[in-house]
This record gives sequence, C-alpha cells and structure tokens, in this order.
Amino acid sequence: MKSKKLNVCYLCGNKKLRTIGRRKGRTISQCLSCLFTFINPIPTKKELDKFYNSPHYVSGHADYSVEEGSQRGYFEKKLNQIESKVKRQK
Ligand SMILES: [Zn+2]
Repeated sequence: MKSKKLNVCYLCGNKKLRTIGRRKGRTISQCLSCLFTFINPIPTKKELDKFYNSPHYVSGHADYSVEEGSQRGYFEKKLNQIESKVKRQK
C-alpha cells in the first residue's frame, strides 16, 4: 500500500512545506521551519526494503565506525538544531 502525501513536516509537524523537486513520481518536500527534507509521500517499509535489498543499491559506507570521529561533531550539531526546532513547536 502506498502512503499518502503529507501536508505537514514528518519531523516537526510544521504546516509550511515547499517543493524542491520531483523525481520518479514523488515530490521532494522541505519544511520551512526545520529544513527537514524528505521524499513525499514517505516510502513504506516494503518500498524501503525493496530499495535497500536491490542489487543496484550501493551504500558506499561499509563501516561507519571508521568515520565516527570526523562525523560525530557534525551530526550532533545537526541533531541539536532539529531538537531546538521541535521543542519550539510544542
Ligand atoms: Zn519541520
């Protein structure tokens, strides 16, 4: 079953989204509050399983632990930005 197109941010619930692109019949939406960018409608678990198990899928990251030191600071900063936006909505 295909999921429905969202009119609110999947992450923070903000109602102001903009379309930044279209690809393969799906919209790429961006939240104007937290800037979360996502495929809309959100793929179902079945669709994601099919994609990630496809022989055409290549992650390019066999071992994330090797990059942990260089990546941790960046993602902690991004997570803090997201959390500050989510708290503001409540
Ligand atoms: Zn948002």
